[in-house]
This record gives sequence, structure tokens and C-alpha cells, in this order.
Amino acid sequence: MRTEEILKKTQSGDVLSKEEIIYLLGLMPDSPETYMMMAEANRLSKELSKGKAEVHAQFAINLSPCSCNCLFCSFAKINGVFDKTMELTPEQAVAYARQFETDGANAVFMMSTAQYSFSRYVELAEEVRRNLKPETTLIANVGDLTLKNAIRLKDAGVSGVYHALRLREGTDTDLSAEKRKQSISNFLEAGLKVGTCVEPVGPEHTDAELAEMIQFTASFNPSFSGAARRIPIPGTAMAERGAISELRMAQIVAVTRLGMPRSVIGNCTHEPCTLGAIAGANLFWAEVGANPRDIEENTEKGRGETVNSCKSIFYESNWNVWEGPSRYYHR
Ligand code: SF4
Repeated sequence: MRTEEILKKTQSGDVLSKEEIIYLLGLMPDSPETYMMMAEANRLSKELSKGKAEVHAQFAINLSPCSCNCLFCSFAKINGVFDKTMELTPEQAVAYARQFETDGANAVFMMSTAQYSFSRYVELAEEVRRNLKPETTLIANVGDLTLKNAIRLKDAGVSGVYHALRLREGTDTDLSAEKRKQSISNFLEAGLKVGTCVEPVGPEHTDAELAEMIQFTASFNPSFSGAARRIPIPGTAMAERGAISELRMAQIVAVTRLGMPRSVIGNCTHEPCTLGAIAGANLFWAEVGANPRDIEENTEKGRGETVNSCKSIFYESNWNVWEGPSRYYHR
């Protein structure tokens, strides 16, 4: 059977070809072959991360309508979800970050909308960094940056970034795919580690598009890759395109694991779920404050998970959770 042959390749340490990735993505999500493939992704993920998953935790430093207009994002001006602007004080940012540290997050992510003042972001990052334990991993989730600004970010005490070339970038967003790719190169050149993901997956994305994106993420040896489905923002044009099932997302998470080189030990999924974890996801996110997938101003009152609830989902899926700074960002 073709699936078994393909899985033998990953068992012997080979990375899959685009054609093999497309084949696995084309299996029925509830077929025996998909379950077998998810089991292999789980095995490989556990082998590489020594059976220990990670929980990263993100807080937003601002909430603002954003004219980059990514159609899947609740901050996009075009979606009209939020009309006010707010930002955290340095004290609030420090309090969020320290709470995550106390909760045992393996990395703390500081997110801003793409058009937030970069100088202000750097000031806040420095303040947060000063107030965290030296060993705590601080990660930035910001818009596209030049090399000069990527270096400023590194100098502020940030270890890495989250940055993704999103599916249909430039079509479903007003951003340039080339600029997204250039930013990833800039981050890497500045000495920042880059985590990424195949996102946000909707029912309209073809297996070939997903395979191409899986291979793009593999191409720069990220701290982690993975897959996340699109969460429909109620009342938006994009919500009418619908959502993929958790099982389909788990299948894509598994294929993404098998499409990465073994040097990439992290495999994320969002939103956290047991199906994703049993399909080889070893990274979940907790979230507080504004969230591009939520219409609540404070996602802790909405869709956001906590560090503890993420840990519980991993335990329910037969994963242990790593204690200490992220190994994915410090390979
Ligand atoms: S995803 Fe980022 S860049 Fe796109 S609209 Fe939302 S905040 Fe702006």
C-alpha cells in the first residue's frame, strides 16, 4: 500500500517529496491510512521531542483596526469587528508576561498588530525583558521588519519571532508575499530564531497549495512548523467559506510533521485539541488580551486557552509537558 511505503521513508529519516505530501493530504480524513499516518507523526514527534510537548503563551500589547486587511483577522479594518484602539501600559505588559512565567509557559510571546509603532514595541519588549527571569524565552510576534529593525529586536532581548507566510498571502491579505519571505530572511540574518506554521487553513485550500506551504516552511529550518485551521469571524465574508474539521486539521498537522526535516522538533497546532496532539502536535498556545481569531476584546473571556488548560489537553492525549525554557527556540 502506498501510504505504508511513504511512512517507511519517514521511519528511516527521509523527508517526503511534494508528491508524497500531496498523496497523504489527499487521503480521506477518517480512513485507516490517515490514522496510520497520524500514528507515525505522533511517534516521530515524540521521538524528536523526547515525549515532552511545550506550551507557549501569547499576550497582545495592543488592539487596533489594522489596514493590512487580512480577511481572516478580527483586527482587519474591513471586517469592522473592533473600532477602538487600546494599548497596554508597560506595567500591564510586564504583569501579563510574569503571569505566564509563573504559570510555567515554555515561551512568552508578545504580539502587536502589524502597524503598531515599532519603537514603542521595542521599549515595551525591553521593559518586559528586564522583568522576566534571564532564562525565560521571550518571543516577538510583529509585522514585517527590515534587517535593521530585526537587529533592534534582537538587541532588545528577544530570542526569536513567530512569522508566517499565510496561505494566499497577497490575495486574502493586503500584504506582499515577497515582503513576508524577506522578513523571515531578515529575522534569521539578525540571529533571531523563527517559528512558523501553515495557516490559516480553510476548506478552499487545495492539497497542492498546502504541500507547497509545508515545503516552504521546511525550507528555512524553523524552530517549529505546524498547521492551524481558520476560525471563522462571525459576520465576515470569509466566514462564509466555512471551516475544516478538527480531524482534517489533525491530518494536515501530521503531514506537516512528516514533511519537515528531523532538525525541526516543534510541530504546532492552533487551536489546541486532543486530535491535534495525537496527530503529532507538540506545541499549543495559551492566549490573553486581544486575539485575531476572537471577537472578545480579552480572549481569556472567549476562545483563549490558559497554560494549564493546554497542559491538560496534552495529558489527555498521552503527552508529558516540558518544564523550562523552550527547546524549540534554543536548539
Ligand atoms: S493578521 Fe496582522 S497584519 Fe493582518 S490584519 Fe490582522 S493584525 Fe493586521
